[in-house]
Parts: sequence; C-alpha cells; structure tokens
Amino acid sequence: MERPIIRVSNLVRRYGDFEAVKGISFEVREGEIFGLLGPNGAGKSTTLEIMETLREKTSGEVLIDGLSVDTDAARIKSIIGVQLQASGFYPGLSLVELIHLFNGLYNETADPMELLRLVNLEDKAKSRYKSLSGGQKQRFSIATTLINRPRIIFLDEPTTGLDPQARRNLWELIRRIREKGTTIILTTHYMDEAEMLCDRVAIMDEGRIIAIDPPAAMIDALIDRGFVRQQAVKAASLEDVFIHLTGHEMRED
Ligand code: ADP
Ligand code: MG
Repeated sequence: MERPIIRVSNLVRRYGDFEAVKGISFEVREGEIFGLLGPNGAGKSTTLEIMETLREKTSGEVLIDGLSVDTDAARIKSIIGVQLQASGFYPGLSLVELIHLFNGLYNETADPMELLRLVNLEDKAKSRYKSLSGGQKQRFSIATTLINRPRIIFLDEPTTGLDPQARRNLWELIRRIREKGTTIILTTHYMDEAEMLCDRVAIMDEGRIIAIDPPAAMIDALIDRGFVRQQAVKAASLEDVFIHLTGHEMRED
C-alpha cells in the first residue's frame, strides 16, 4: 500500500496569462483511493488530465509508475484507465457491442460479461447505451476504464449529477475495484464523498493544494485546534433518512 505509484512535483499549468495550477506537489500510493477535492475552477481536471497524458503541462515533473509524462506517454497509457466522456460512446450500440469495439481499439480481449457483472450491468448487456440511466452510464464508463487491466484509473467527478442511491452504488463499485489492487484517483467537489470514499485527500483551491491527509486526520486536527461545531451532530443525516425510506437495492438510479 505504501509505494508511491504517482509523483507530481512543482506542477504548473498556465492558460495564457492565467495560472490554473500553481506549482503543486503530491504523491499517490499504490492501492489507495486518492481524492482531489475542491470547488469548480480549483484546477482538479487540469491536474488529472496532465497525469493522464491528455493535456500538456507548463512545467514541473509528473511520474506515473516511474514513467515521465514527457517521454513515456504511450507506456503510461498502457497502464492507466481513463474515463471517456459520454459523447465517446455510440448511443445505438449495446453494451456488449461497445466493449467489443473497445477491445478492438485497445487490442485487448476483455470478457464483456465479466466486466458487466463487475459493475452490476449484466442484465443490460443487450441494452443500448442511450437507454441507460445516469448512474448506469457512469458505471458502464467505469467498466470501460478496466478493459486494458490498468494499474491506475482516473475518474473525473464520477458522481456529479447522480442521485443518492446511484452515488452510493458508485462508491461501492469504486471500493470493489480498489480491492482488486487498482489504484484510484478521483476528483470531487462533494465533501461527503471525499470523507466516505477516499483514503487520502488533497484539498485544492485556486490552483494550490492547501492540505493533504486522510479525511479523519484532517477532522481530528481541526478538533484538536479547538474547533466546535455550533449544531450538535446527529448520528444520521437527512440523506440517510432518504436512503432508508426509499431503499437503495431495488431502484437503482
Ligand atoms: P476544476 O476541474 O477544478 O473545476 P479546471 O482544471 O477545469 O478546474 O480549471 C481550472 C481553471 O483553469 C479554471 O479557472 C478554468 O476556467 C481554467 N481553464 C481550464 N481549461 C482551460 C482552457 N482550455 N483554456 C483556458 N482556461 C482554462
Ligand atoms: Mg473539473
């Protein structure tokens, strides 16, 4: 769990005169779920896409399993899984057909039913992509990141726009993928998601990382500094009430 599989040092990205990423450094350990947490515009997607070799950096160093994004992009691509935008899927093809298509593109031989089973979409194997709900589309796109058996997968705001049941299903799926040994880096602007799902979180704001730690350690450190919440914290949230009342197994998205 401890070996760094990603090292980012003094990463800078400018768009014209605007510095979107202002010299950030962090490491991601093998086998962890690592979150980049921050508001819109913080620089999360820019950082993620540079690690994915899909965007140029301005300066700094990014090593993925010891390989530099400057000189080893092709080898990096072969060990990472990248989520496509929804527009990357032919809407009229079935899920099995799409996986065959990606197998062909990546020169892989992934078993479509095995992948669909992993993401709980076995019964949708013959359904067209366009007929899926939002949560199902998101799970399918995560399945496609696994086609090349990557060591690391990158997920950009995987649960944005999903309802509470679909979000929790997706968290479960992400944990299952990690249990198989895959390292996961995701971005989110949801505090609860970072707290529930991530082993460690880098809090980003305006292009800088302002804290990196496990969520529980950050919370304990704040309490140690004398912070007290004004309102008593209850053992359940309104979201828990909602999930309890509406159920999370049967209706999935
Ligand atoms: P996040 O994913 O945290 O919302 P982004 O990395 O998408 O943040 O964007 C960080 C900042 O960089 C934002 O202010 C955004 O407007 C700007 N930005 C992102 N992409 C471009 C681009 N291609 N050209 C100019 N500015 C950009
Ligand atoms: Mg973004």
